[in-house]
Amino acid sequence: MEVEIACPKCDWQPQAGSRWQCTCGHSWNTFDTGGTCPRCLHRWHDTQCLSCAGWSPHLDWYRNLDQWVAEQLVAELQPVAR
Ligand SMILES: [Zn+2]
Ligand SMILES: [Zn+2]
Repeated sequence: MEVEIACPKCDWQPQAGSRWQCTCGHSWNTFDTGGTCPRCLHRWHDTQCLSCAGWSPHLDWYRNLDQWVAEQLVAELQPVAR
């Protein structure tokens, strides 16, 4: 099943070129990293919509994603100690 990403509030869908800015000043596509800033590794639990400016929990943006898969996604994004 294909996972779609869209704002839970207004159904706006982020594009590949969409960028979010972290408080550290880095801007990146937050859906490439599951809401984690690649520079300072801050985890953004909520994601702001670039269209309606509303904040929603990051996982609420993913459609067709059941809870188990959502938990796997979160687990995968944990920094791995080697
Ligand atoms: Zn950052
Ligand atoms: Zn929105």
